[in-house]
Amino acid sequence: MNCIYKAVDKQNNECLYIGYTKSLYARKAVHHTHSKNIKKTSKFYKYVREIGFDRLHFETIIELPHYDRTLLSKLERHYYDLYQPSKNYNVPSRTQLEYMKDNYAKIVHHNLVNREKNNIKNRQKNSLNHEVINARAKLYYHKNRVKILDKLSTQINCPCGATFRFQFKKLHRESDLHRVGLRNEICKTIEKLNLPKYE
Ligand SMILES: [Zn+2]
Repeated sequence: MNCIYKAVDKQNNECLYIGYTKSLYARKAVHHTHSKNIKKTSKFYKYVREIGFDRLHFETIIELPHYDRTLLSKLERHYYDLYQPSKNYNVPSRTQLEYMKDNYAKIVHHNLVNREKNNIKNRQKNSLNHEVINARAKLYYHKNRVKILDKLSTQINCPCGATFRFQFKKLHRESDLHRVGLRNEICKTIEKLNLPKYE
């Protein structure tokens, strides 16, 4: 027996829950078991634990001759809108767009909260990386100190004619001394090549 059923509070006739099942008898038993399980924290089961399972009345809304998932979900949705059950956890067959519309504020809030969380996480990760990189550099320097100092003090003979230590390479390359010297050296080279002169 495929059916859509409702669970009603006997005391005030309030429709609490709408669902679909292949066997209402078996489904009732499952609901009964779940209502006693504190790990089941849905709105419905929490409420049933409050009022007691005996106050529930299960009723078939419509029976279907055979299983048809699409038809069932459409019907489930139809009856959900009709009865507005107060304790259903999910709205049956709600589309993504409908969900977004219904929960717009919640989603925006969720995203904002998560963005802040992610930002914090990323900052932590980056500072951690920064520390790792610094530690690695320190370790490298410590291990290769002699080699590094040796390299830094190496005398470099620049094509501009000047001599400087490796550690001042950048400073020298950007200096006027280097620029002028290099131009003079290039002129000298051209003269040495003895290229034909244009008049
Ligand atoms: Zn130079």
